[in-house]
Amino acid sequence: RLREEVQSQSAPSPLRKFRVGKLQISALFDRLRTLLSDCSAFLAATHIEADDFMKEQKEIGVFSSQVSSISKLFERDHMKVVFVGQTSNGKSTVVNAMLYNRILPSGIGHTTNCFVSVSGSDANTPYIIDSLSSEQQPISNVLQLANALHPEGSLNQSGLIRVFWPTTKCRLLGDDVDLIDSPGLDLSNDINQWIDDYCMDADVFVLVANAEATLKVAERAFFFKVNEKLSKPNVFILNNRWDASDNEIDDSPERVREQHLEYASKFLADELKVVSRSKILDRVFFVSARETLLYRTTENWTRFKESQAVRDRYDEFRRFEQAFERTICKSAMKTKFEHRIVRGLDIAYSLAEIAGKAETLSKEQISGRIKEINERKENAARIRQLGERSLKCCSALVDRLAATSRASVARAMNE
Ligand code: GDP
Repeated sequence: RLREEVQSQSAPSPLRKFRVGKLQISALFDRLRTLLSDCSAFLAATHIEADDFMKEQKEIGVFSSQVSSISKLFERDHMKVVFVGQTSNGKSTVVNAMLYNRILPSGIGHTTNCFVSVSGSDANTPYIIDSLSSEQQPISNVLQLANALHPEGSLNQSGLIRVFWPTTKCRLLGDDVDLIDSPGLDLSNDINQWIDDYCMDADVFVLVANAEATLKVAERAFFFKVNEKLSKPNVFILNNRWDASDNEIDDSPERVREQHLEYASKFLADELKVVSRSKILDRVFFVSARETLLYRTTENWTRFKESQAVRDRYDEFRRFEQAFERTICKSAMKTKFEHRIVRGLDIAYSLAEIAGKAETLSKEQISGRIKEINERKENAARIRQLGERSLKCCSALVDRLAATSRASVARAMNE
């Protein structure tokens, strides 16, 4: 089953749409850039002396630099998901489970005390860059990364360590998704700064909550703040550690689940108004990141075969991933591409107008030249006629002169 799942990872996913869309739109912008330079060259060649197109040439210069800047953005475009929650709710474990790899250190003693982003890299070996040294350091295992995250006098909560992992090892990273793990919300004293520094361009937020408790004040406060700064953020709630429900003795898991769902609906639909109540099951999931990670990284994990509850939780994690992929792709396409496409269209319309004006003027010039040529032709004919007439007159005059001179010679001889 896992083999099938991993194989299906190479099949097109909703995330692939982002990559394909990015390549297609970026190709259109390349074409627009060529058209702009063609148009500019045409204007320069046809109207060298006239300053009819000085304003348009300047405009084309501005459009070209705008198109170049937009094209560069496509190279850097990634979809971004930020994971938040209280310390030890399982944020790092969720990230690892989604990446099918133990990349981030997790567990007691490995509290993430700064922001950590995980991105794909074309290099064959993983490396990290921290915001203090900005140097690329090779990293070969989780322990080494754990030490890098906790050196003496290391980064504060607002620092960032960027982990680059080979895209060949994780499909999600190959599909241009950046995953950001954050310090526990209980550790933070400056949520505003966090949001400004790391969350303003996030396409999706995943609140990793503890299914054994209700949402904490800090978790709710974070999302009220995010909601103030971003319009309608995409929020998922993962009720993690749902495996604990196996040991529930005082209450049935179904009842606890209903309670959590009602609480999440109130929070997301009624208070934040980021999703409607009817769509709440696409946003709230009951999972065990630990089991998912174990299943995805341990061969022949027998508990999976033995327990239906474990398999159900795993399926719920998959459902979360599918909903997440659909949402992040849609959001990233809209936020990253929409305004660029609108700008590209504006430029294309303006270019069409300039080209139209150039065409009209060129036609006028051509008809002007034809008129000029015709006039020249008529003049030439008139000159020719005049010449012919003059020639006739001259030769008649010559004849008369000759006759006169012959007569006067004869007269003289007679005398
Ligand atoms: P973080 O501080 O939010 O990043 O939490 P970690 O991912 O480091 O997890 C803290 C501890 O909780 C680790 O020992 C994990 O193995 C454990 N843990 C994470 N997810 C689960 C889960 O779904 N069920 C159980 N039982 N333990 C979990």
